[in-house]
Amino acid sequence: MSGFFGKLLTIAAVIVIAWFGWRWWQRQIEKPTARSQPPQSPPPSPPPSPPPPEAKPGKPAVDLVACSVCGAYVPAGTVHCGKRAA
Ligand SMILES: [Zn+2]
Repeated sequence: MSGFFGKLLTIAAVIVIAWFGWRWWQRQIEKPTARSQPPQSPPPSPPPSPPPPEAKPGKPAVDLVACSVCGAYVPAGTVHCGKRAA
């Protein structure tokens, strides 16, 4: 049984050595001179786009309030249904 495990350990050691050797070899190919440098940072993100223009022309720039009688949204301060919305 010890021979079996010994062979198993030998195979495992060979695989591990081959793996680390492969890793080391790849690193040597990719960065032969600058191995300790950090990876390149991603390019800076583009500046944020300008805000969109004003709202559609013709839209009233007044606050709409719900009519207390019928519930319709009318400009604040206007008379609706014979009563003031507020
Ligand atoms: Zn109303």
